[in-house]
Amino acid sequence: MSVEPNFKGSCLCGAIKVEISQEAKWTSNCHCPSCQKATSAAFATFVGFDKAGVSFIEGKPKVFNSSVGVKRSFCGNCGSPVSFEGEAWPGEIHIHAMILDKPAELEPGHNTYVRNRMPWVELDPNVPAYDKFAHDED
Ligand SMILES: [Zn+2]
Ligand SMILES: [Zn+2]
Repeated sequence: MSVEPNFKGSCLCGAIKVEISQEAKWTSNCHCPSCQKATSAAFATFVGFDKAGVSFIEGKPKVFNSSVGVKRSFCGNCGSPVSFEGEAWPGEIHIHAMILDKPAELEPGHNTYVRNRMPWVELDPNVPAYDKFAHDED
């Protein structure tokens, strides 16, 4: 008997497929300069999971160490950003929300690094905003 995963996702070309058997721990928009470069977008939306609940069932993302203790993964074929792992979050993997099949089901719990936010990005006043990380506060 197989249990349906909580989330399924794939990169733009479909070479990387992920299944996640876990509720999301948190969802956050990160406006930091590294995420902006890594995604070429104004901010990146991440969903936090325990690594144990995340399975790459097809393909293997390439890994780039964007800074000390930080691993960003992406599809080596189409370039879609896939995940973020940092030593500051042991045991966690942060999945780029937009690779999930139903990202609209997740609502960001906070905005982080808003001091680096693009001036044309409007923040929802009902969503907590932090100058730096907020992930520890969940
Ligand atoms: Zn791909
Ligand atoms: Zn960031």
